[in-house]
Amino acid sequence: MKNNELKITIVYDNEIFKEGLEADWGFSCLVEAFGRKILFDTGAKGAILLGNMNKLALDPAEIDEIFISHDHWDHTGGLLDLLRINPVKVSVPGSFSGQFDDYEFALIKEPSKIHNNIYSTGELENNEQSLIIKTESGVIVVVGCSHPGVESILSAASRFGKVKMVLGGLHGFSDLDLISDLEFICPVHCTKHRSEIESRYPEKYVAGGAGRVIEM
Ligand SMILES: [Zn+2]
Ligand SMILES: [Zn+2]
Repeated sequence: MKNNELKITIVYDNEIFKEGLEADWGFSCLVEAFGRKILFDTGAKGAILLGNMNKLALDPAEIDEIFISHDHWDHTGGLLDLLRINPVKVSVPGSFSGQFDDYEFALIKEPSKIHNNIYSTGELENNEQSLIIKTESGVIVVVGCSHPGVESILSAASRFGKVKMVLGGLHGFSDLDLISDLEFICPVHCTKHRSEIESRYPEKYVAGGAGRVIEM
């Protein structure tokens, strides 16, 4: 993989994309960009997270850091199992209250640089942060459940450049006009109106599911 390329592998989702993986309510994806491997969220159950990673030939020991979008069990459930294998730094929203005393947690309140070209929106409404990857062709936003609202996330993300793609759970999202300027949308996990998004924007729609790999 070249240094400026981006690869996102959905590891944990309510549905599967690739035969043989396990579906479960929750979300996690591995973001490989700018020489870093960042695990975004950890799903609900460590055994499923690690099992799916194993089937996708992704080695937990090779993860450089973890980014937690928000403190909900279906996003943090696999965290401890992963940290026991590989005690990397974990970036969490500033209000995060999980008890993980033995590990290194970075509390993020404001928009922050995580790594070169990789940022957090900072903690938005409802205690959730999104991950920003700044590529040459635009900004990729990875979201957990979008509890702050897609409008708020897009406005926070657009400070980093023109938003090209949003990937993740779009929980209560129904105002489809908001995403008309995006090039790609990959609605997964708790997204309620996925079929409406797909039929309104077939050219932008990217199917998710555990095992889906997106490269750009
Ligand atoms: Zn949530
Ligand atoms: Zn969720």
